[in-house]
Amino acid sequence: MLGLVGAGIGASLTPAMQEREGRAMGLSLAYRAVDADAHGLTADDLPDLLCWARRLGYDGLNVTHPFKQAVLPLIDGLSEEAAALGAVNTVVIGGGRLVGHNTDWSGWGRAFRRVLPDAVRDRAVVVGAGGAGTAVGYALLEQGADHVAVLDTDGLRAEEAAVRLAKWFGDDRVSPATDLAAALAEADGVVNATPVGMLGHDGMPVPAELLRPDLWVADVVYFPLETQLVRVARARGCRVVPGGGMAVQQAVGAFELFTGLTPDADRMAAHFRQLTGR
Ligand code: NAD
Repeated sequence: MLGLVGAGIGASLTPAMQEREGRAMGLSLAYRAVDADAHGLTADDLPDLLCWARRLGYDGLNVTHPFKQAVLPLIDGLSEEAAALGAVNTVVIGGGRLVGHNTDWSGWGRAFRRVLPDAVRDRAVVVGAGGAGTAVGYALLEQGADHVAVLDTDGLRAEEAAVRLAKWFGDDRVSPATDLAAALAEADGVVNATPVGMLGHDGMPVPAELLRPDLWVADVVYFPLETQLVRVARARGCRVVPGGGMAVQQAVGAFELFTGLTPDADRMAAHFRQLTGR
C-alpha cells in the first residue's frame, strides 16, 4: 500500500506507473494520490497524515511539492543523500519507523547517464537552485562532473545551493554564478531546473543564441515532454536530455526502496511513454 502526498498532483502519472509495474512483477500493489489542494491540507497536517499512513498499514509514501522539506523533522531516519540535500521525496514505512530517501537526484543521474554516458565528467551549468536544481547538482557532482555552476534569479538561493553542494563535494567543484553567458562559455552542458517551459510557464530559461551545437542541454520539466528549450536546442544541433527520464527513474528508485525488488526500468519507461501518448 503506497501513496503520493503533494499539492496539485491530480494529473500525476506516478500512481499508474507504480501500480502497473507492481502488477507486472506479481505484486498486489495499490498506490493512492492524496492531493493537498483537493483536501485543503497544509504542512501542519503532515504529522496526522504520516500517523494515519502508519496506522492504515501503508508501506511507503512519495512526497512532493510543497512538502519535501517539511517532512524532514517528522521522520525517524534519513538516508545520507536525503540529509545532504535537505529534502525527502520517498518515505519507507516499516517496523514502525519512517525512513526518508531522495530519488530525485539518483533518478536524474540515471536518466542522464542513459542518454549521455560520455558526459559524466563534463563541466555543467544548472539554472534554478530549488529542490530540483540542488538534486541535479548533487547527481552531476556525484557522477564525476568536473565543475557545476549554479545560477538562479534569486542570487541567495544559488549561493545556498552551492554552499550545500560544496560541503559534500568541495569548494573547487561548485560555485554560484550570476552571468549565464559567461558560465556557459566555460561549460559543456546546461540543465534547466526552473519551472520555465512548463505548461502555463512558457518560455526558455536560456536564450536561444547561447545554445551552441557542442553544448548538451537537459531539462527537468516534463509537462510538456518536449519543452521549448529541448525543441530549440535540438534544432540547433545540441544533444538533449528531456525531463521525462527523470520522472521515470525517480519512480524506479522509489519502487526499489518500497518493495526491495528491482523493477524493469525499460518497461516503466515504455508505460510512461504510453501514458503521455509518446
Ligand atoms: P523551486 O520553486 O523550489 O525552484 C525553482 C527555482 O528556479 C527557484 O529558486 C527560482 O527562483 C528559480 N527560477 C525561476 N525562473 C528562473 C529563471 N528564468 N532563471 C533562473 N532561475 C529561475 O522548484 P523545484 O521544486 O526545484 O522544481 C523546479 C522544476 O522541476 C518544476 O518545474 C518541477 O515540476 C520540476 N521537477 C521535475 C521532476 C522530474 O521528475 N522530471 C522532479 C522534480 C521537479
